[in-house]
Amino acid sequence: MNEISQIDYEPPLVEDLSSIEVILETTTSEDLLFGKTEISPSDFKVTSPEAVKFRETFFPQTTEKQWSSWRWQVQNSYTNFKKLSELFDVSNIDDFDFLSKSRKLPLRITPYYASLLYGKPKGYALNRAVVPNKLELITSPGEESDPLHEDSMCPVENLIHRYPDRVLMLSTGFCSVYCRYCTRSHMVSKEKKHFGIKAWETSIEYIRNNPNVRDVILSGGDPLTLPDRHLEFLLSSLRAIPHLDIIRIGTKVPVVMPQRITTKLVKMLKKFHPLYMSIHFTHPDEITPEVTEACNRIADAGIVMGSQTVLLKDVNDNVDTMKELMHKLLKVRVRPYYIYQCDPIPGSSHFRTPVSKGLEIIKGLRGFTSGYAIPHYVIDAPGGGGKIPILPEYYQGREGDNVILKNFEGKTFKYYDPIK
Ligand code: SF4
Repeated sequence: MNEISQIDYEPPLVEDLSSIEVILETTTSEDLLFGKTEISPSDFKVTSPEAVKFRETFFPQTTEKQWSSWRWQVQNSYTNFKKLSELFDVSNIDDFDFLSKSRKLPLRITPYYASLLYGKPKGYALNRAVVPNKLELITSPGEESDPLHEDSMCPVENLIHRYPDRVLMLSTGFCSVYCRYCTRSHMVSKEKKHFGIKAWETSIEYIRNNPNVRDVILSGGDPLTLPDRHLEFLLSSLRAIPHLDIIRIGTKVPVVMPQRITTKLVKMLKKFHPLYMSIHFTHPDEITPEVTEACNRIADAGIVMGSQTVLLKDVNDNVDTMKELMHKLLKVRVRPYYIYQCDPIPGSSHFRTPVSKGLEIIKGLRGFTSGYAIPHYVIDAPGGGGKIPILPEYYQGREGDNVILKNFEGKTFKYYDPIK
C-alpha cells in the first residue's frame, strides 16, 4: 500500500508555493530559476574518477560537494561556445549566432555530461548528440517544426491529447541538456525559467474533467528539473484525481544530471505510486557509475523505468552499439522500451537513418539476446498519427490452414492455424 493513499493525501499548502511562483514569474535571471534556495549539500556521493579529473581541471575552485549538487550543475552548465571551446575545437561552429535566433535550440550541457565528452575523438557519438552543428541550418524535404502536429491536439495550453485514455502534459520548457534532434525543439527552451505552477491549472482541470484519461505523462522540457516542492505539488494535484491510474515522468535528467536523483527526491516520488519513468538514453557510454547510482535509487523507490532511445546516424545506428546499450540498461534495472525513428524537425536530416536501419537493428537483437533487451522500434507518424511499431517480416502470410513464419535465422516454418 502506498504511504499516502489517493484519497487521504493532502497536497502541499498552496500558499507555501505562491511565493515561489512570484519569483519564477518576475525574474528572467537564470540564477533564480529555482527560487531563492541556496545550493545545499547533496547526498549524492558517487563521482567517477574521470569526472573528478574533469572537475579538477576545469572547475578547480569547485568542491566535491558543489559538483554533486544538481543546482550547481544547472548553474554552471555550458551555454556558450566560448566556454565550450575550453573542452574542444569548436572552430567549425563558431559562427553560430543562430543560437540567438528563436527557432533554434540553445546550447546547454551540464558539467557532468561535458565530462563524458572531454578528451574523446572527433565525431564522438555523444558529442554529436548535444553539440550544435552547422547542418542544423539546413531544412530538408519533409521537415517541419511541429512534425507530429501536437499544437493542433492541445485542447488547453501545454497539454497534448492524442490518444483516447492518456494525455501528455508539458510541465516546463526547460531541460538540463538540449538534444540537437529534439522533437519538441519548437517549444522547449523558450524561457530560461519554468512556467510556474499557475500555468498547470488548466491542464490539471482538463484532466479532472475528463474521466476517460487514466494515464498522464509529465513531459516538457524535463519535469525533473523542477524543484522538489513544485514537482510534489504537481504530482499531488494529479494523484488527487480519482480516475487517474498511472503517472509517468518523461526525463533525461538521470542520464545527463544524475546528481538530481537525491534520496529526498525519490522519497517524495514514491508517495505517488503507481509511478513510471521513461528515461531518454542514447548510447552505452552514458551508463556510468553516477547513472547506475541514480537508476538504483529510482528502482529502489519502486518506480518502474523504461528507456526511450532515438535512432541517430553515427551515434547509435548499429546493432553492436544498440545491443550494448540494451544490455547495460537491463543491468541498471531499466527495461528497454522504445527505439524511435528520428522525427523530421528542421535541420535534423544529418541524424536520420533509413527505416531499413531500424529494422536491421531489431533483426540483430531478436533471437540474439534476451527478449527483455528488445525494445519496440516505432515511427511517430508525421501529422499526428501516433506511434506505429515497425517489425521485420516474421509473419510471411498464409498457405491454406498454415501461417508461414520466418525465424531470427531466416528459416521458414509452418504453423498449423486452420481457417474455421
Ligand atoms: S531532454 Fe527531451 S525535451 Fe529536452 S531537449 Fe532532449 S529530447 Fe528535447
